[in-house]
Amino acid sequence: MKLYNTLTRRKEEFVPLEEGKIKMYVCGPTVYDFIHIGNARPYVIFDTIRRYFEYKGYEVNYVQNFTDVDDKIIKRANAEGVESTVISERYIAEALKDAQGLNVEPATKNPKVTEEMPYIIQMVQTLIDKGHAYEVDGTVFFDTKSFEGYGKLSGKNIDELMAGARIDVDDNKKSPMDFVLWKPKKPGEPAWDSPWGEGRPGWHIECSVMAKRYLGDTIDIHAGGEDLIFPHHENEIAQSEAANGVQFAKYWMHNGFINVDNEKMSKSKGNFFTLREIVAEVPYDVVRFFILSGHYRSPINFSRELMEAAGTSLDRIKNCARSLDFIVKNVQGEMTEDEKKLSEQADEFRVQLENAMEDDFNTADAVTAIFELVTFANRNVSESSSKAFAEDILNKLLKLCSILGIDPVEKTEDNGDTAKIEELIAKRTEAKKAKDFATADAIRAELLEMGVVIEDTRAGVRWSYAK
Ligand code: AMP
Ligand code: ZN
Repeated sequence: MKLYNTLTRRKEEFVPLEEGKIKMYVCGPTVYDFIHIGNARPYVIFDTIRRYFEYKGYEVNYVQNFTDVDDKIIKRANAEGVESTVISERYIAEALKDAQGLNVEPATKNPKVTEEMPYIIQMVQTLIDKGHAYEVDGTVFFDTKSFEGYGKLSGKNIDELMAGARIDVDDNKKSPMDFVLWKPKKPGEPAWDSPWGEGRPGWHIECSVMAKRYLGDTIDIHAGGEDLIFPHHENEIAQSEAANGVQFAKYWMHNGFINVDNEKMSKSKGNFFTLREIVAEVPYDVVRFFILSGHYRSPINFSRELMEAAGTSLDRIKNCARSLDFIVKNVQGEMTEDEKKLSEQADEFRVQLENAMEDDFNTADAVTAIFELVTFANRNVSESSSKAFAEDILNKLLKLCSILGIDPVEKTEDNGDTAKIEELIAKRTEAKKAKDFATADAIRAELLEMGVVIEDTRAGVRWSYAK
C-alpha cells in the first residue's frame, strides 16, 4: 500500500509501527460555529482511509481533537454573554451530528483542550527544562532555533520561513519564528493556573499533548488539511520531537482545499457555506459521495451544480442496488454455470477498487470501479437470473460501497402502512388472476390515493411512495 508522505514529498510504501495496528491522529475543528463544507473534507477523507485500513484487517486507533479554547470561541461567547464552554459544547454536539450524518465512524477518542490542561502544562514545562522553551512575563515561547529539524515538514529553512511568512511582531521573542506555548490571561478570558501564572495554551501544543497521551510518542499517521502544514504541523513536530526525543509521526497526510465557485472559500469573501446549509438542499450521503469523487490531494470545486451531479451519479448506484434487491426478493434458484463464471468476473471490480485505494487512496478511481460493477450488474442481472446470482452481485456491490462508507440501500420510509399496502397488492394480483380488472384497477387507484405507485414487472409488483 502506497501513500504520499508530505514529510518526504513522495509516495511511500506504508509500513505500520506495529503489525496489524495503526495509530492515527487527525486535527479537528475549532468549535465556534457549525462545521463548514471545507471541514467536511478531512472528516470524510480520513474516515475513508481509516475504513480502508480496517477493511484490510488493521485495528485503527483514531484520535481527533476538538479545539475548545480559542479566540473565536471567546469572541462568540462574549457576544452572546455566555461562558465559552456553552459555545464550544454546543458546536461539538453539532459537529458530531454532522459527522454522523456523513457516515463517519466515531473516533476512538475526541479529546478537548479544556480536559487536557495538566498534561499541556507538563509538556510546556518539559520543553522549558530541556532548553527548548523560555518564559517572558507569563508568556512561554518555543525556541525554534533550538530545534534542528525546524522546517522539515514544510520543506523550508528558518531564513526562508522568516522571509515568507507573516509573523507576529513581539519584542519578547528571541526570534520572530518562535511561537507561543502558553499565554497570560486577558480580562474576560477563561484561564487556568500554571507555573507561569494564570493563562491558556497556544494552539499547537494541544495536538502534541493529545497525540502523546492517547497514541504514544511516535504515531503512524498524522493528518489534516493542507493549510495546517505550516505553521501548525511544523510546530507540532518541533514540540513533540523536542519533548519526547523520538520521531513524532512516520507519515503526514494532507487533504487539498475545497474552493467555492472556483474561488478559495473564506468567510470574508462571503462564499462560505456551513454543511448544515448544504444538507438542507442535498442529503449527507451526496456530500460524502461528492468529496470521494475527487482525489484527496487535489483541490475540489464546490458548486450547487457539481453537488447535484454527484446526487445523480449516486442515484445510479442506488437504483442498481434497488433493482438487484427487488430481483433477489422475487426470483428463485441456484447459480447456473454461466452465472458462476460471471460471478468470478465480477470479483475483478473489487480488485480494481483495491488497486485504486492502495495507490495513495485514489477514491476517484475507486468510485469508477463501483460504476463499472453497476454497468455489469445492469447488463447481466435480470428477472430471469437465479436468486443466488442476483444476491451475489448485490452483496458485491454493497461490499464495495461499504469500503468507502457509502450505503446505497434506500431506507424505504415506512409510513406505518406497509402491511396494508402489501395486502392490497396481493388482493390486486388475485383479482388480475381472476380477470377481474375492475377490482384490480380500483385497488391501483386506492393505492395511488395513499401516495403509492406500483409497477408490474416480470418478477412481480414493485411499489414505492410517489415522490
Ligand atoms: P479549522 O476548524 O479551520 O481548524 O479546520 C478543521 C479542519 O478542516 C482542518 O484539517 C483544516 O485543514 C480543514 N479545512 C478547513 N478549511 C478547509 C477547506 N476549505 N477545504 C478543505 N479542508 C479544510
Ligand atoms: Zn492539530
